[in-house]
Amino acid sequence: MPFRYEGKAFDRRFLPRLTTKEIEAMPKENALIVLPVGAVEQHGPHMPVYTDTLLGEAFMAAAFEHLPEDAPIWLLPSVAYGKSTEHMEYPGTITLSAQTLMMVLQDIAASLARSGFRKLLLFNTHGGNADLLGMMAREIRIATGMAVFRLDPGAVGYSDPFTDDEEKACGIHAGDVETSLVMAVCPDWVKPELAPREMPRFPRTSALSLRAKSFAWITRDISASGIAGDAAKAAPDRGEAMLKRAGPLLAEALLEIAAFEMSSLRERN
Ligand SMILES: [Zn+2]
Repeated sequence: MPFRYEGKAFDRRFLPRLTTKEIEAMPKENALIVLPVGAVEQHGPHMPVYTDTLLGEAFMAAAFEHLPEDAPIWLLPSVAYGKSTEHMEYPGTITLSAQTLMMVLQDIAASLARSGFRKLLLFNTHGGNADLLGMMAREIRIATGMAVFRLDPGAVGYSDPFTDDEEKACGIHAGDVETSLVMAVCPDWVKPELAPREMPRFPRTSALSLRAKSFAWITRDISASGIAGDAAKAAPDRGEAMLKRAGPLLAEALLEIAAFEMSSLRERN
């Protein structure tokens, strides 16, 4: 019977498959707990609304394949729903309010701290979550004393060799990269014949550039089709190549985060 949980991440390092006794007994001083945070939101006429959460799991599945057997890194079930208020007028978008997502993250983190864990990584695959996760990382640090980290897969540059400057700058939602990735992970979930190309005209000047985040937009402001990027260019073999590149790069990032000691930041103790 086919089922969802396969590969090293879920076979060996999926925290909730352990018993409470096993979790109580495990060494926790250096254990890093990875909490993927995704979204259920419109991804254009060609892609499933589950895209971001699906890809978060795919990235972690790829990364865990490259971790040493004894790496103290554990995966949690994803927070499948994110803050997708910018897409809320589209059917199928299921968004949490900022306040709800904050409380969900706080409660999960408090539970981990009670279990004795000291290090938490928020692994984010939805741009609309980023600001909130940044704020919550610090709030959780303060409330629990845990070391809290954030990582977006884009930070490791997994897609850099596969995209041009225009896609890098404007292909931020359901474009070439995400469509290629879902084609590689769940080919039957994509409708390539409906894949559009639409590039928002984000200002390229410094004060108003997208990276400077100088204005708040909702999806309708930037796109008629609901996407930002060139999904017509997407192809499964390129998605596979991106995931193949992402695996070791993300594994390296996880190991670096797991080894990091907050006490190393101070010049004097
Ligand atoms: Zn997405």
